[in-house]
Amino acid sequence: MWGMVLGLALGLAARLAGGLGEGVTQAVRWTALQVLDPVGQVFLRTLFFVVVPLIFASLALGVVQLGRLDQLGPLAGRTFALFGLNMAIGVALGLVIMNTVRPGYRMTEETKVMLLDQSQEEAGEAQARAAEQPKITLRQLVEMFMPRNLFGAVADFQILPLIVFALLVGAAGTQLADERRRQAQTGLAMVTELMTRIVHFAMLLAPVAVAAMIASQAIKAGVDILQALLLFVLCALGGMVLHLFGTMSLLLRLLSRRSPRQFFRAVRTVLVTAFSTSSSSATLPTTILVSREQLGVSASTAGFVLPLGATMNMSGTALYEGCVVLFVAQVYSVPLTLGSQITLLLLTVLSAVAVAGIPGASLPLIVGLLATFKIPPEGIALILGVDRLLDMARTVLNVGADMVVACIVDERLGQNAPAPVSIPPPPARPGS
Ligand code: ASP
Repeated sequence: MWGMVLGLALGLAARLAGGLGEGVTQAVRWTALQVLDPVGQVFLRTLFFVVVPLIFASLALGVVQLGRLDQLGPLAGRTFALFGLNMAIGVALGLVIMNTVRPGYRMTEETKVMLLDQSQEEAGEAQARAAEQPKITLRQLVEMFMPRNLFGAVADFQILPLIVFALLVGAAGTQLADERRRQAQTGLAMVTELMTRIVHFAMLLAPVAVAAMIASQAIKAGVDILQALLLFVLCALGGMVLHLFGTMSLLLRLLSRRSPRQFFRAVRTVLVTAFSTSSSSATLPTTILVSREQLGVSASTAGFVLPLGATMNMSGTALYEGCVVLFVAQVYSVPLTLGSQITLLLLTVLSAVAVAGIPGASLPLIVGLLATFKIPPEGIALILGVDRLLDMARTVLNVGADMVVACIVDERLGQNAPAPVSIPPPPARPGS
């Protein structure tokens, strides 16, 4: 948290210093690109290193630990129902705010032209990526979940096939004779534990890396664009804050016995990591670690719900997608009836499931949604200047909601859940 505050202060100070002359501005930008970004990347890459083995081992372990395959049904059923519910509420909230405030109708013609001009190139890239997105057919779904080459897909950071493979390994594990099953469990627990240790290493770097990443973003952010889109940004952020602290607290109160205050206090590290990395996947190791060690979620629930959540439960992304589509429709005066908005809600939830947990991953899907509703897809350029900031915020909501679902599912299955594999805390740091 202090890293974040320090990073923001440093970034803003550097921007002010940039006002002293062109030479200083150049030096500040150089520092952001050549010094601050690499520091942040060391942290980020350490987390990315562990993502694949961790997803595999924790998910397979989660299923093996269930002991019996028929336990998978209730676990999966509750998990997917909560994912869907939480994304649908998120989008509905975003749409209500956008329909009430209507920021798109308040934008002047000059602002619109300025925004479209500034981000033309990136908008073209997002449209090209959208054109590569396959249409959802049965054939394509099989391809998405079970590609011919698992390792090729994983190397491209496609997580869904890895999840399917891990589930299969876990399911196979439950069928082994007792002794063999225990061995498989120990092996998988060992991998999880090793990866968790690496996450502890990464977390030692976090304060410095978070400060560096936030400072770099503050230096690079375009203040004029932020001003032009202030109302839209406030609407989207307002929706996210309301969903994270309102809906999530409500779900925790209604469906579990946890105090929302304690929950949010315990998960601060995860939320800061999500904010500074803009990636649910990069945050996943920290999410698992904190859920097990601070929230006391059992190994099988954490291992099952959190990797799935990091790729499928994208309530921040869904909320944001709905807001952008409505905003662009308002700017271009394309009316969307109540019926179209309900369709938008459903499509947004489905497309958010397909978004990868990496920065900016939702942009091509938003382009696809715009085209579906006959809204000019190049309108995506309007919001690109503020996308990174809102990406940071929506990722916080994405991972926050994953942990809420994990807590609820764990409590609901509480009586049946096997004892968690305990991961001992890291050795004390000298002097701490
Ligand atoms: N950055 C988001 C995440 O990783 C995905 C997105 O909305 O672009 O959760």
